[in-house]
Amino acid sequence: MARRRQIFEGKAKVLFEGPEPGTLVQYFKDDASAFKNKKTGVITGKGVLNNRISEYLMTRLGDVGVPTHFMRRLNMREQLVREVEIIPVEVVVRNISAGSLAKRFGVAEGTPLPRSIVEYCYKSHELDDPLVSEEHITAFGWATPQELDEIMSLALRVNDFLSGLFLGIGIRLVDFRLEFGRLWEDDQMRIVLADEISPDSCRLWDIKTNEKMDKDRFRRDLGKVEEAYQEVARRLGILPEGGPRDMKGPAVMQ
Ligand code: UDP
Repeated sequence: MARRRQIFEGKAKVLFEGPEPGTLVQYFKDDASAFKNKKTGVITGKGVLNNRISEYLMTRLGDVGVPTHFMRRLNMREQLVREVEIIPVEVVVRNISAGSLAKRFGVAEGTPLPRSIVEYCYKSHELDDPLVSEEHITAFGWATPQELDEIMSLALRVNDFLSGLFLGIGIRLVDFRLEFGRLWEDDQMRIVLADEISPDSCRLWDIKTNEKMDKDRFRRDLGKVEEAYQEVARRLGILPEGGPRDMKGPAVMQ
């Protein structure tokens, strides 16, 4: 890797200073973590697949008018993105009961929700990303009411588009998590989609068998984690050109 300034290292990605001002390079790692970092491991080849899957989904969303931070993929594990001011709120959209919603309300996993539900969590590792309401977000100034309206409407557009896209390849979009940022252009600010969209941040179930094709395979020790991510990429028609060259054999998982 070329020498350059590292801006931030997260659980699954590293951010580097980009080649021009206002740009960043997102490097996708194979590292996986779950349950507030209590469970960690490596999903071999995940970074390559997520880089490609997120590129594809962000590009398709851009094509239908959803503004995103994505500029272009640079190589197998890196993409060039616009530097944004991240809004410290995780936006979760749910179509079918699963995960924390199933637990919180006692709604069996797999139950279709009466309508899509948008939830917000405050991005704070120390506080374990607590669920918050719009009131908290606006009162504490994490986003203005206008920004929140825009975020909600973009999140629902993303949900509509991605639900259809995945349905077309036999996958149910159960839920997913988005992040948004403020992009400054001259004196103008707009809200854009940031971070990544991949099987790390979505629940994806096979439409016929309900088999999980996402990070729940890692969280719940279901096995065949790499295979699931690869199958998502295969169905999207975007397996990395380099093939398994960058995938270094069996995964080590804890
Ligand atoms: N999610 C995520 N990052 C997080 C928390 C959740 O990408 O820090 C995604 C998760 O993969 C799922 C959706 O958001 O697709 C809803 O997750 P949930 O609240 O059910 O939490 P979990 O069960 O993952 O703890």
